[in-house]
Amino acid sequence: MELEVIARPEDEETVVAALDDCGTLGAWSVGGGIVRGYFSATARRPAEAFGAAWRALCPDDDPPPVTQRIVPATDWLARWRARARPVAVTPTLWVGPPGPGWDSAGVPAGAVRVLIQPGQGFGTGTHPTTRALLAWLQEEPDFARVLDVGTGSGVLALSGLALGARRAVALDLDAAALENAARNGCLNGCRGSLDLIRGSLDALRPGVRFDRVLANLDGRALELLLPDLAARVATGGRLGVAGLLLGERRPFLRAMTTTCLTLLDETTERDRTGGETWWSAWIGR
Ligand code: SAH
Repeated sequence: MELEVIARPEDEETVVAALDDCGTLGAWSVGGGIVRGYFSATARRPAEAFGAAWRALCPDDDPPPVTQRIVPATDWLARWRARARPVAVTPTLWVGPPGPGWDSAGVPAGAVRVLIQPGQGFGTGTHPTTRALLAWLQEEPDFARVLDVGTGSGVLALSGLALGARRAVALDLDAAALENAARNGCLNGCRGSLDLIRGSLDALRPGVRFDRVLANLDGRALELLLPDLAARVATGGRLGVAGLLLGERRPFLRAMTTTCLTLLDETTERDRTGGETWWSAWIGR
């Protein structure tokens, strides 16, 4: 069952939150204020449940209009996998699913290839936040130890290894993401050099530091974790953060003044689907 919600573009996040609250199996932000939520065909009155969830979040606003329709059951993961193609993060760093797609992708000889099978973990190499961190990682290739906080598909940690790191530690709170990252670790032949840990920074042994610490999370989490992230960066190392919105830049930079970190580079990119602009930063210690 598909529930299509037509809202104001600035309300898309609230729509997704309300869909989550009423038990959607997954929501897709189409853009322009249109959000589609999927439910089991046997779900009881999802449109009404959405209205109630919306009112709980925004008691002063009427819920946006919704239309409900039955769509044929589809194996979306299989369709996504069939359509996924290798993408160039930089001209010499490519990320893509295993398979024949590489033959026709026009990958230059000598380019670094990272295999990512799309699964439950975020990060196929197409999102601007992932790409910003990978480009910086490749620009300064002299590193041995990488920490990837919130690894999702494993794409940052595995790229770190492909670019020459000896060891990568990848953290995630989500067991399904770690499973996906583990599988991708095997695909890239990195079983011995990749440590996957369920948890966050506090799951690491005290005092262990890394040449590169990469965290593609959200603005709030990054601001909260900043002192702990800073503490994990080796002297002369780099911290790459992504997942912040442009509006979160100032508070983040203000929080940085209490650490031993210095902003080295920053980039913004407008999301193709939503209206938001992502801000990413490359930071030195
Ligand atoms: N690193 C990938 C995926 C980023 S998505 C990329 O750059 O494309 C963010 C991931 O961080 C999700 O898998 C989520 O489960 C995880 N996560 C969120 N907060 C976290 C935290 N505090 N510690 C560890 N992982 C976290």
